[in-house]
Amino acid sequence: MSAIIKDIVILGCGPAGLSAAINAKIRNRDLLVLGTENCSPPLHKAQRIDNYLGFHGVKGGELLDHFLEHSQAMAVKIHHSKVELVHINEDGTFNLLTGGEILSSKAIILATGIPYKATLPQEDSYLGKGLGYCATCDGPLYRDRVVIIISHNQEGEAEANYMAQICRQVYYLPLYRGLGQLDGRIKLVKDAPARIIGNGQVQGLELKGGESIEAEGLFVLGGETAPDRLIPGLEIVENHIQVDRQQRTSIPGVYAAGDCTGKPYQVAKAIGEGQVAGLNASNYVAARA
Ligand SMILES: Cc1cc2nc3c(=O)[nH]c(=O)nc-3n(C[C@H](O)[C@H](O)[C@H](O)COP(=O)(O)OP(=O)(O)OC[C@H]3O[C@@H](n4cnc5c(N)ncnc54)[C@H](O)[C@@H]3O)c2cc1C
Repeated sequence: MSAIIKDIVILGCGPAGLSAAINAKIRNRDLLVLGTENCSPPLHKAQRIDNYLGFHGVKGGELLDHFLEHSQAMAVKIHHSKVELVHINEDGTFNLLTGGEILSSKAIILATGIPYKATLPQEDSYLGKGLGYCATCDGPLYRDRVVIIISHNQEGEAEANYMAQICRQVYYLPLYRGLGQLDGRIKLVKDAPARIIGNGQVQGLELKGGESIEAEGLFVLGGETAPDRLIPGLEIVENHIQVDRQQRTSIPGVYAAGDCTGKPYQVAKAIGEGQVAGLNASNYVAARA
């Protein structure tokens, strides 16, 4: 085992982590970014992005390539590994355990995204191929089409009501009790989902009762699981890391940005929060020097 001491270690090389990295780099911080091989599994699967300023109609993977090229041009180092546990030392620094290696840092930024718990078999292989986790984000792709929305909580109703305005037909399948206000155009499905029908692209949904619904789009909402409790004592509210407007978490020296801090799950929010986290983590390190 080797000990490497950094100013800042950033967990996650998606949009939030890379934005934090380039902003901390501009502040001359010695930093390291950690994350999976393709850096942003959700962004990689986004077929088309229309709401990131300056990149109308870009593919998610293409946008991610731009982010990675930008980071590379600024000599941001990315290691493809995951942190298993973070230990807080008595002097307020951190030890991060990453498969056989221990990294030490003065501050950390959590940009770990949202881990989804699959509701349906083969959900992962249909992600971005007619299946999504944010109906309002992908809405324009399904204008005048038929979509099914499966929701684990009441928040799905607002998304379904929005989709009812632009889609030919919306089917709503609540996986919770206590239905609220649904637009009159929505067809309520009182059955449980069994499996996705498709040939690599979503074509519909089979229900446990044996019936099936044909649709071009399928959304599974509210299936997030709590962020890994990587750091004992980190405050989590409704499955998200609690942060203030400086992106500070409940632990001094630990900042968080992007999807892991809450909705909307969007690139622009991740980039903005990453910037704030990168700047404030840099200030934190400078103040302790
Ligand atoms: C199908 C689809 C379509 C979408 N369309 C749009 C759209 O049109 N517009 C839009 O703005 N957004 C869209 N999004 C959402 C967008 O992709 C996310 O909001 C964005 O990727 C969030 O960025 P992030 O950096 O917070 O997290 P992510 O991109 O999820 O990155 C998280 C990173 O953290 C790493 N990580 C996790 N745990 C650890 C650990 N323990 N140690 C180290 N690293 C770790 C992962 O490896 C990964 O690198 C879409 C998403 C999907 C799935």
